[in-house]
Amino acid sequence: MYYDHVAQVEMPSWSRGRVVLLGDAAYAVSLLAGQGASLAVAGAYVLAGNLARSPSVEAGLAGYERVLRPVVLDKQATGRKSRRWFLPATRTQRWLRRASLALAGLPVADRLVAGALVGKPTAMIAEQARRTGVGG
Ligand SMILES: Cc1cc2nc3c(=O)[nH]c(=O)nc-3n(C[C@H](O)[C@H](O)[C@H](O)COP(=O)(O)OP(=O)(O)OC[C@H]3O[C@@H](n4cnc5c(N)ncnc54)[C@H](O)[C@@H]3O)c2cc1C
Repeated sequence: MYYDHVAQVEMPSWSRGRVVLLGDAAYAVSLLAGQGASLAVAGAYVLAGNLARSPSVEAGLAGYERVLRPVVLDKQATGRKSRRWFLPATRTQRWLRRASLALAGLPVADRLVAGALVGKPTAMIAEQARRTGVGG
């Protein structure tokens, strides 16, 4: 038995002055979306990269949010959309979930199922490396 409060964190801004939020404190996506730990680590990477290469702390914090926020919004929206899949309430929904899991073993279908459950693939880290020539 597992009991918990399932929630997402939506902050209008992730930093104020030189104080910045990262990981769940800034953008928890919930277990419905998954990948929260990955997003926290990726966020640390993007934040460090932007701070290291920006002329000021404020510009680095703005760059971090500009790169990461669209990715987080997509994951959060995907999590909200798939909550009925995650927590089926009817027999039909349970059947649909079993069928989609079975399909996930097939080529092509695996990409469709993955896309529906985890959102768009992201090349955020590669994109940052391409723009800055560092990391990736
Ligand atoms: C059931 C469940 C399953 C999950 N499964 C996955 C998964 O499969 N894959 C995945 O990527 N993510 C998963 N996640 C999400 C993942 O655990 C979180 O997104 C990730 O841990 C966020 O990291 P964080 O460092 O931002 O926050 P946290 O890991 O919550 O770290 C915050 C730390 O700050 C400490 N703290 C709090 N207040 C204070 C204070 N006042 N002073 C000092 N310290 C303080 C806390 O004790 C904690 O150690 C899951 C989460 C849950 C709940």
